[in-house]
Amino acid sequence: TYVVKDNCIACKYTDCVEVCPVDCFYEGENMLVIHPDECIDCGVCEPECPADAIRPDTDPGAEEWVEFNRKYSEIW
Ligand code: SF4
Repeated sequence: TYVVKDNCIACKYTDCVEVCPVDCFYEGENMLVIHPDECIDCGVCEPECPADAIRPDTDPGAEEWVEFNRKYSEIW
């Protein structure tokens, strides 16, 4: 799965949401998140992010964001 990290906070761009083929972005408290079970790992969103906030969970330090993304995807 891909995850959204804290660089997204207060970012106004939603380019990532528009390119996602499975619509798995959700609105978190002050940032967007990706539902880890819905993400198909296509990677299309990553280069669209101007804040460099979207990373694969295999990235160093990204794994810890998976549960955060899950929590805020399911909260609303
Ligand atoms: Fe959506 Fe693909 Fe990004 Fe996952 S990697 S959030 S499926 S655009």
